[in-house]
Amino acid sequence: MGTMVPDTRNFDAILGAIANEVTPLFGEGNVASYIPALARIAPDQFGIALRTADGREYAAGSARTPFSIQSISKVFTLSLAMQQVGESLWDRIGREPSGDPYNSLVQLEREQGVPRNPFINAGAIAVADRLVTRFSDPKREVLRFVSELCDQEVSYDEEVAASEARTGFRNIALANFIKSFGKLDNPVEQVLDLYFHQCALSLSCLQLARACTYLCQDGRNSLRGEQVLSDRQARRVNALMLTCGTYDAAGEFAFRIGMPSKSGVGGGIIAVLPDRLSLCVWSPGLGSSGNSIAGMRALELFVEKTRLSVF
Ligand code: GLN
Repeated sequence: MGTMVPDTRNFDAILGAIANEVTPLFGEGNVASYIPALARIAPDQFGIALRTADGREYAAGSARTPFSIQSISKVFTLSLAMQQVGESLWDRIGREPSGDPYNSLVQLEREQGVPRNPFINAGAIAVADRLVTRFSDPKREVLRFVSELCDQEVSYDEEVAASEARTGFRNIALANFIKSFGKLDNPVEQVLDLYFHQCALSLSCLQLARACTYLCQDGRNSLRGEQVLSDRQARRVNALMLTCGTYDAAGEFAFRIGMPSKSGVGGGIIAVLPDRLSLCVWSPGLGSSGNSIAGMRALELFVEKTRLSVF
């Protein structure tokens, strides 16, 4: 078990300074226009929230504005599947960084329909398949799980889910591809319905910082006093976030930031410092690998100012 380290830094001042310093980056990058409902989001928004292991919370900017969490949801569906399915989950999903974009098809052909890791789209689709098998109403279970994690009722943005279902041609291709290797047990439409909905979960930075407490507290959700995962499982999720959470920028993230992180094309990034704190940043402008530009800079500034990192 890790020990909790009370942190006496002035996080209010630090988060406020970060929010100011990233302002010049607004307008850089592009919002995720391949999902039409996300193309309309104003790019000049920024939020940051932090929750310490001893339960103190800090926020700056639009930390209470809900946004589309997109691939950040892959951390939660993986955690639910680890909790519910156990070790056999890994029969059809790898644990290596891909070095390729999140929606790439190339490795899947070479590696016979076994996605490299659970955080690229193909891997998350394979995880969704296991949840569809496990639950009669998987969308409701995912919603319940995430709501319990942040101890607040959250919801799917049905417009975003429908928008992606209409235009998610690469994800439809990925699911069919996995199916062609006999490695998807359920109908493609059912699996993608869950996948598109999990991506369309709407949460704020503060809710996401709360939802991640189990990842910095040995698998225990401190808001509800519930053990979500075992200590070992939580550490494994963190290991995967560090190596695979930001796709082909995972090396750059480890180099510049040094925290297990998971990004989404809605512009959010969660980051975890085991035994210390969980953190979420959000700004919709994305760089070429689909990670928020201002969000990534904010995390880098956080590490510079606090000298906190896992290294
Ligand atoms: N829903 C998005 C997609 O499947 C998620 C990708 C992401 O956030 N990186 O393309």
